[in-house]
Amino acid sequence: MTTWHLTTVTSVVDITPSARTLRLALPEPVHALPGQHVDIRLTAEDGYSTARAYSLSDVRETRSVEVTVERLEDGEVSPYLVDVVEAGDPLEISDPHGFWFTWPSGDDRPVQLIGGGSGVAPLMSMIRAREVEAPHTPFSLVYSVRSPERVYYRDEMALLTEHRRMDVHLIHTRVAPADSPRPAGRLSAAELAELTMDPARDPTVYICGPNRFVENCAQWMVDAGHDRAPIRTERFGE
Ligand SMILES: Cc1cc2nc3c(=O)[nH]c(=O)nc-3n(C[C@H](O)[C@H](O)[C@H](O)COP(=O)(O)OP(=O)(O)OC[C@H]3O[C@@H](n4cnc5c(N)ncnc54)[C@H](O)[C@@H]3O)c2cc1C
Repeated sequence: MTTWHLTTVTSVVDITPSARTLRLALPEPVHALPGQHVDIRLTAEDGYSTARAYSLSDVRETRSVEVTVERLEDGEVSPYLVDVVEAGDPLEISDPHGFWFTWPSGDDRPVQLIGGGSGVAPLMSMIRAREVEAPHTPFSLVYSVRSPERVYYRDEMALLTEHRRMDVHLIHTRVAPADSPRPAGRLSAAELAELTMDPARDPTVYICGPNRFVENCAQWMVDAGHDRAPIRTERFGE
């Protein structure tokens, strides 16, 4: 049975024109793993309730967690979370779950992250945990996003690159930055192989995003020579 916690929204930040990061204060400490998600449950005055899964994008604190929600214009829950919820509002969340798509904090095995759209949220949780718990573990990210203004956690990504903490390869699918040598377009198998770690380094691979993106990238990594076993996937739907 699901255990629900009544959290309080302590901050809301619009990080792109269509996505908002919410920080939720927890009533009691919770130890979540990087990569886990929670269900957020909304209940209307007439008692109707519905829940959706959202990845935790920051699990470094035990008394608060962070989620980042992308608005689907015709969706039931996400427009409410992105456009209506304000700091001070109560919000019900489940215990964190999902044990397969988690990074064992402190692990020194190389990690290859591949995210599409909002699928970068749980990967950010791993990146943030690594900065604290295993700063020397090699991490690398390929992040596919529609356009420059849709990039999540832009400033943090820039700092990671600037300080040579890890490689961050942005793939713009619809609009590329004016100064980019790469024209806008979808990631290909060849490009993914070129931008990701050599299979000889035997990285754990985490892939998250829309169904099709995840399926393609997982297969392309296998085609590039990676073992299937250390490839972990999470699908957000569509
Ligand atoms: C493990 C996991 C983690 C996730 N983490 C995140 C995250 O960190 N951030 C994030 O933004 N999202 C995340 N998601 C996705 C999230 O759970 C929701 O699916 C998303 O926010 C859409 O919910 P919604 O209620 O707004 O849309 P919904 O109302 O569920 O609709 C989703 C889509 O289905 C279509 N649809 C709905 N009903 C029908 C119908 N009857 N017939 C045809 N089409 C229909 C809608 O048009 C819409 O395009 C995650 C999903 C999973 C499984």
